[in-house]
Amino acid sequence: MSTIKGLKCRECGRHYPAEAIYVCEYCFGSLEVDYDYERIRATLTRRLVESRPQNIWRYRELLPIDGEPTVGFHTGFTPFYRARRLGAAFGVKELYIKDDSACHPTLSFKDRVVSVALSRAKELKFDTVSCASTGNLANAVSALGAKAGLKRVIFIPADLEMGKVIGSLIYAPKLVAVEGNYDEVNRLCAEIGARYKWAFVNINIRPYYAEGSKTYGFEIAEQLGWKAPQHIVVPAASGSLLVKIWKSFKEFHRMGLIDEPPTRLYAAQAEGCSPIATAVHQGSDIIKPVKPKTIAKSLAIGNPADGYYAADAIRETEGWASAVGDQEIIEAMKLLAQTEGIFTETAGGVTVAAAKRLIEEKKIPRDESIVICITGNGLKTQEAVAGHIGRPIKIKPTLDSFEENMKEKS
Ligand SMILES: *Cc1c(COP(=O)(O)O)cnc(C)c1O
Ligand SMILES: [Zn+2]
Repeated sequence: MSTIKGLKCRECGRHYPAEAIYVCEYCFGSLEVDYDYERIRATLTRRLVESRPQNIWRYRELLPIDGEPTVGFHTGFTPFYRARRLGAAFGVKELYIKDDSACHPTLSFKDRVVSVALSRAKELKFDTVSCASTGNLANAVSALGAKAGLKRVIFIPADLEMGKVIGSLIYAPKLVAVEGNYDEVNRLCAEIGARYKWAFVNINIRPYYAEGSKTYGFEIAEQLGWKAPQHIVVPAASGSLLVKIWKSFKEFHRMGLIDEPPTRLYAAQAEGCSPIATAVHQGSDIIKPVKPKTIAKSLAIGNPADGYYAADAIRETEGWASAVGDQEIIEAMKLLAQTEGIFTETAGGVTVAAAKRLIEEKKIPRDESIVICITGNGLKTQEAVAGHIGRPIKIKPTLDSFEENMKEKS
């Protein structure tokens, strides 16, 4: 049973068939999946969702495939919980964490988008999948593509963290390290994509890929007891996750699964790459591209594809944005680890630091429900914190040595 009608231009509304295309021929707007919402509303219920296995496909009517899913049966339904100790540190009443640092199989929310993209790529009969990545996407395409039996050609900036490089190589894709930043890698991939018949998950099949991010929002609403939170802080690179979380709440409402979402959206970016936050702060419609310089490499997109839509969603919901410095990012990674026991990557540090600032600036009130989006795992970006967390206490294998050294250090 297919619930997709085709693709639709986000700007002029023109319709297109559900193929591997992503821009409108008339206005150059980006294309989006068009669903048969009437039909979905008639079948999709809370009970039906709850009766299904705990993975992203429990929301399959609202995901862009024609037949049965083929990739990602263990992806999604990650932990969501009340963060009491971090909440106390922030001085807020009701704080929650959605934790995709534990997402299967590559420990970031990119496993969601890639599971959807590869399921669709197989339906569209591609045998090779590709991507331009800031790191986590490379890991997810490498791993899930291996399991799906697909050929993989992966493009990354040459200066990525070791954990992200090894976390791709182990799955033996063709890994191409480009001497340039993400925006240059992405531009190159658009050229390569015009010549080779590959499924570039975040380029020519981006309309399907991006829909996978909705599952992060669907899960939050379901795990919160079928309602949307009042405030949600989202890390932004291309801005797609933020836009799709908002779409997920609106779709759940439209399908009659939750009340009207009261949610305000907040973008979290690094100071060294904050085109979306800058536009929000200036009240501007225009996203001015920047040259990234930050330790948060997974968020280092200087020319964000969905920047305009992200800023628009933030305006629509009367949210805000924050851009935080490298030192704040490291401190926030430590704070999350030491209060909630979660080792997140630099992107998670950005989100926690941004949330802290937004609360201190009174942009987010202390007595309402707040969700923080943790999207990646700290084991992948160890070099960011290596010099900032002390060292083990070295001793001789004797009781004397132990007690001597404990005295000194305590
Ligand atoms: C890619 C990524 C994001 C942001 O994704 P966009 O949808 O491009 O804004 C956030 N966190 C992590 C860890 C990522 O890898
Ligand atoms: Zn158009």
